[in-house]
Amino acid sequence: MNQNDVDFTNNPYYQLYLKQQSQQFKIGNMPYSYRIKLLKKLKVAIEVTFRDKILEALKRDLNKPKVEAELTEIYPIISEIKFAKSNLRQWMRKQRVDTPMSMFGSSSYYIYEPKGVCLIISPWNFPFNLTFGPLVSAIAAGNSVIIKPSEMTPNSSALMAEIIRTVFEEKEVALIEGEVETSTKLLQLPFNHIFFTGSPHVGKIVMSAAAKHLASVTLELGGKSPTIIDSTANIDKAAKRIVWGKFMNAGQICVSPDYILIDETIREKFTKACKKWIEHYFTNEPKTSDSYGRIVTDKHFNRLQAHLENAKKLDANISIGGVVDKASKYIAPTIVANVSEDATLLKEEIFGPILPVVTYKTLDEAITYINKKERPLALYIYSNSKRNIDKVVKNTRAGGTCINNNVIHYANHNLPFGGVNNSGIGKSHGYYGFKAFSNQRAVVKQHTVGINELLFPPYTNFKEKLAR
Ligand code: NAD
Repeated sequence: MNQNDVDFTNNPYYQLYLKQQSQQFKIGNMPYSYRIKLLKKLKVAIEVTFRDKILEALKRDLNKPKVEAELTEIYPIISEIKFAKSNLRQWMRKQRVDTPMSMFGSSSYYIYEPKGVCLIISPWNFPFNLTFGPLVSAIAAGNSVIIKPSEMTPNSSALMAEIIRTVFEEKEVALIEGEVETSTKLLQLPFNHIFFTGSPHVGKIVMSAAAKHLASVTLELGGKSPTIIDSTANIDKAAKRIVWGKFMNAGQICVSPDYILIDETIREKFTKACKKWIEHYFTNEPKTSDSYGRIVTDKHFNRLQAHLENAKKLDANISIGGVVDKASKYIAPTIVANVSEDATLLKEEIFGPILPVVTYKTLDEAITYINKKERPLALYIYSNSKRNIDKVVKNTRAGGTCINNNVIHYANHNLPFGGVNNSGIGKSHGYYGFKAFSNQRAVVKQHTVGINELLFPPYTNFKEKLAR
């Protein structure tokens, strides 16, 4: 459908969209130094001007501990900016490629051109990181951007709006706060690219909306990320890292281990090690710990509590934790054993501080279990057996994997970050983020008479022989 065929005049965001659209070539054709200037301005705003306010907003929205907020919200954006600044000149360079003999007389290259006007829709669990991270890539690639952050973390969204107003002109970047209705209206507009981070359910809605204009999409989604621990693993180290990766941000992390698949002979030892590390990180009263977060909203608290009740009804055992407090939206770091296959804990993405532990007898059984479910965003394996590690990696599919660790693959800008099918489409971070917001435009330049011209019509017998 041509965008001109649709009447958007009643759409409240159309004028803003048009403003950005009318400037897209001007902004897109600005030199490298202009993009760097914008990135530097954003860096100063986050690193200096608004740093304390960011920490404060995160404390209010998610009770996010300061150190955690520094490490998981501010640092990733700053390092994404630094990485883009160091590499942008190379990324923007014309990329020459070989030209086949049959095209003798011409040369070939491709350029990364900006997609144009882009929409970024972000979630609430790392509101700053998951909004400004993609924004860095979008700016590096020379686009204009409209952002719609999550309504679940209102202090963070309001502050992001202020930061965007301070750093950018509206024709470059604008942020619109709002709920689902706002998203829906924005999704009606003919964006050139939509970068969405959120649930697979909403990802499908975004993709359907994008299809109306054949807008390209990057979908950073979620799902159930499994963690295998085999009998050769260092159990204490596994527990130390898993307890960190699972209970940071009160488990509200897209790449945190969603459930454990463990060799049945080491389950008890693993549970004991988890208890030790939970107490070490958060004391034996995590509710009083300054290092432990809270659930974002009552709705999410109720959803998680319902998971626990459902599992208990189906005879699950709470091995550790299980304590909840509705008033403060607190759910203790919780480990659950003997979980029924029918329990919602094993059917839906948990996205909270509850970790079901499922036992297996053979590694094949664990692999089959994983492959029966949707392809995960992350898959982790703890093992000291190279054979087992290879077997798991070769016989499963996932967006990303850590071996003997979890979550940290997110932090390497040299790696593509993203899911596969139900856990996402497209990749982000570093060069991959720049690529997501760019069109690779192929160019062939003719210099002399092309060899192919020998075969232009009329098709004589001689040309027929030549073509063979
Ligand atoms: P969500 O899908 O509910 O919401 C994400 C965004 O979409 C929000 O801005 C929201 O306002 C908007 N939205 C919600 N419903 C909509 C609708 N019907 N139409 C249009 N827009 C709509 O996700 P969430 O609860 O904010 O975040 C949790 C989910 O995000 C989990 O599934 C998690 O795994 C995933 N996630 C993925 C990543 C990643 O990088 N892959 C990172 C963080 C979170």
